[in-house]
Amino acid sequence: SMQIPAHVEQIIHTLNSHGYEAFAVGGCVRDTLLGRKPGDWDITTSARPEQVKALFRRTIDTGIQHGTVTIMMDRTGYEVTTYRIDGEYEDGRHPKQVEFTSDLLEDLRRRDFTINAMAYSHATGIVDAFDGMADLKARRIRCVGNAMERFTEDALRILRAIRFSAQLDFEIEKETFEAISVIAPNLAKVSKERIQMELTKLLCSDHPEKIREVYETGISTYVSPAFAVLDWQHARVSAELPKEKYVRWAAFLRCGQSPETAVRVLRDLKLDNETISRVKTLVTWADVTPAADEAEVRRMMSRMEPEVWDSLMELNGYGPEIRDLVTTIRKRGDCLSLKELAVKGQDLIAAGVKPGKEMGTMLHELLEHVLEVPQDNEKETLLKLLADMHR
Ligand code: ATP
Ligand code: MG
Repeated sequence: SMQIPAHVEQIIHTLNSHGYEAFAVGGCVRDTLLGRKPGDWDITTSARPEQVKALFRRTIDTGIQHGTVTIMMDRTGYEVTTYRIDGEYEDGRHPKQVEFTSDLLEDLRRRDFTINAMAYSHATGIVDAFDGMADLKARRIRCVGNAMERFTEDALRILRAIRFSAQLDFEIEKETFEAISVIAPNLAKVSKERIQMELTKLLCSDHPEKIREVYETGISTYVSPAFAVLDWQHARVSAELPKEKYVRWAAFLRCGQSPETAVRVLRDLKLDNETISRVKTLVTWADVTPAADEAEVRRMMSRMEPEVWDSLMELNGYGPEIRDLVTTIRKRGDCLSLKELAVKGQDLIAAGVKPGKEMGTMLHELLEHVLEVPQDNEKETLLKLLADMHR
């Protein structure tokens, strides 16, 4: 039998003892069978949402109209969804309406891939109506039913297929792969945010190099025009890099023409501004290695946040020589930014400088100086230096 958390067992047991069917389903069954830790546990049941709510003390209406109720057990949420048949798809995006059913098999049939269409309970064991187990063993992503139809219903599944192939290191089965190429234009109906979320999961997985499948399947033009023309064959995005999205996106996008190309792709895909700015910094400095010289390293460090610098060291693969210098610089607490400079705008005003653009230039000049001579980061010294410079 399969190992499932006590809470899940309890929810299933409570539902069963009131005459309803209930199973762990989808990703959690797949991941457990693969020996991976599931992100969350979803439960599918013959009970209607009101019936589920009546049996548990703390519930949240997560998506009542789609049949989903979240049950809270000690601060962990479990999504319990009524068996349903997805209605006709309005626009390749949302089912027009969902219809509840009392047949587990119908609920499994609406799911995207065979490996995601298995259910489990201690009482029944594994319910595997679409040979998900065989595909799991063969390490294969295959649609439930007719691939062309399933991708036509919902084009996001195209990106889910590629994303799962990266997360699990599975191959996309031939018929499924071919259907992806044919249905690719339907991706125009899927929002950029949702496309982005799948690509981000792919890049942050153990097999980020599978981003190539986005090109090999021919869907890249539907992701974004700027994305489509990247020199992806020369991309080097490695599983060794930290799994933060800005690092993985930067590692991939350094194959583009310029930092501006990277920014264009990320804007097309509606990434947040912080990520865009960090990727731009990393792509700008990718392939730049400072001389093994303290002042040189400080100057480069001063161009970005400390966290981004740490990522850059990974991205560029700096060796111990530079890493040791960084450790020394940080231990000593050398000034690396205007924030750490021993004089502020107020000090300059007190010393008789008029506020304005010129004052900003002066502060930058002082920063340049302390990057070269860190022990000069001291108020008296800097004010004297300024007086000398602008005499
Ligand atoms: P993970 O949560 O690890 O990303 P998952 O398989 O749990 O993977 P979810 O997006 O959480 O994926 O969806 C849960 C389940 O719902 C899936 O396993 C699948 O059975 C079904 N599902 C999700 N999205 C779709 C979709 N677009 N089309 C059909 N079925 C879907
Ligand atoms: Mg999930």
